[in-house]
Amino acid sequence: MRREFSKEVKRQALKRAAGKCEAKGCGALHGVKFHFDHVIADGLGGEPTLDNCAVLCHVCHDEKTRKHDVPRIAKMKRIRDKHNGITSPRGAKIQSRGFAKAPPQRKASSPIEKWRGF
Ligand SMILES: [Zn+2]
Repeated sequence: MRREFSKEVKRQALKRAAGKCEAKGCGALHGVKFHFDHVIADGLGGEPTLDNCAVLCHVCHDEKTRKHDVPRIAKMKRIRDKHNGITSPRGAKIQSRGFAKAPPQRKASSPIEKWRGF
């Protein structure tokens, strides 16, 4: 379950942000809506504390979630699964015999049929 920031943490984060997006190099002024983002994603063990709270505009929040958190959480899940012996069918060994062995190739230099004349 997600652990959301408390109202008090949000209030303090807003005060710290001073009305601007806290993402590096953004500095967008907050419009109608802004987000309280977990710096370390909740799914990765980030705590709902002020230190782990970033005030982001929706653009930065979307970008961070999409490019940063989602792949990391997916990776963490894969590692955890692997550790627990849960492997995906894609990575499993092929159980079938596979393809039949191809007949030996003719050498390019040997004639396909003997010359029988006209
Ligand atoms: Zn921003």
